[in-house]
Amino acid sequence: RAKFTSPTLRRDSSGFGGDNNDFEDAKRSVGHYNSTTNGTRKSKPQDEGEDNEEVDERLKNVDPKMIEVIKNEIMSNLPSVSWEDIAGLEHAKKSIMEIVVWPMQRPDLFSGLRGPPKGLLLFGPPGTGKTLIGRCIASQSSATFFSISSSTLTSKWVGEGEKMVRALFAVARVNQPSVIFIDEIDSLLTQRTDGEMEGTRRIKTEFLIQFDGCGTTSEDDKILVIGATNRPQEIDEAARRRFRKRLYIPLPDSGGRKTIMENLLKKQSHCLTESEIEDICKKTKGYSGSDMDGLCREAALGPIRSIKDIRSVNLSDVEPVSHEHFIMALKQIRASVSQSDLQLYLDWDNSYGSMG
Ligand code: ADP
Repeated sequence: RAKFTSPTLRRDSSGFGGDNNDFEDAKRSVGHYNSTTNGTRKSKPQDEGEDNEEVDERLKNVDPKMIEVIKNEIMSNLPSVSWEDIAGLEHAKKSIMEIVVWPMQRPDLFSGLRGPPKGLLLFGPPGTGKTLIGRCIASQSSATFFSISSSTLTSKWVGEGEKMVRALFAVARVNQPSVIFIDEIDSLLTQRTDGEMEGTRRIKTEFLIQFDGCGTTSEDDKILVIGATNRPQEIDEAARRRFRKRLYIPLPDSGGRKTIMENLLKKQSHCLTESEIEDICKKTKGYSGSDMDGLCREAALGPIRSIKDIRSVNLSDVEPVSHEHFIMALKQIRASVSQSDLQLYLDWDNSYGSMG
């Protein structure tokens, strides 16, 4: 499903403790295969390294081509995300703040029994903000964000998935604090073990080795692995245990839907009153955040559809988006998650979810 999207590294500096040069520093650090955080472990460049640049010890045995791919395609340079950008989900946000963000900011306070989990599993229906949360965690803790989907590992890197996993963790170590976000984690950590899945099984084994290795070689490793899944029941027990925190990310309630809608409408000329917005929120029970996004986009096309000659119309003559446009759009854009799926999430949450 998801493709590599992010061409360059982003070190967000909006979070606490980040200095304003983080972005440039981090870019340089990766370009030179050095670490800014633990920059002491350096060695002379490898023959195939980039012109006379130093290579971090921890990257010495990693294929430089893979480092390049990680740098260009897996490290994210998407705009930073703040907690306000994520509508609703107050409970999840509060838990994440306590268990992940504070420990990243104040490792001295969160050691020993208070030590943060190395793994966080976000599960729930598609389009509810799991990826947004991953990006927000990285932004807020000034961490380098690595984002990859399991299907990319298993299908794009046929035969080399294991190597890729090793390389990914090595680069994350060098650029820590790091957040490694793995979408569709279920397909990597699946319980199915038939012969066809041999390649996946090897990647899974390597992933678990790397995961367990985080923090063992160096107590100070600050790497958080976030797995996101719409199918938590597919994850086997051994893998599940490693994600010490498992948070349910549900569909938005009516307040969450309202915030999403209002945020999207801010960028658009519209004439909906407060009560009309509330009416749409009532009519969208069961919609995910991304369904709401789709609905607003569809409604926004309404005024355009009534224009006779699109080439000559003045922008100022385009009608504002109205309640009526939303009513029309509701016929096109339906809730994408079924009731029976929702029950599965609730059941899984009852059995394995964390209270926060
Ligand atoms: P997931 O990873 O859970 O499948 P995403 O985080 O990729 O979902 O969300 C998809 C899109 O839906 C986002 O880019 C955003 O536009 C919208 N969205 C989903 N949930 C929320 C939310 N809670 N707040 C704001 N926007 C949301």
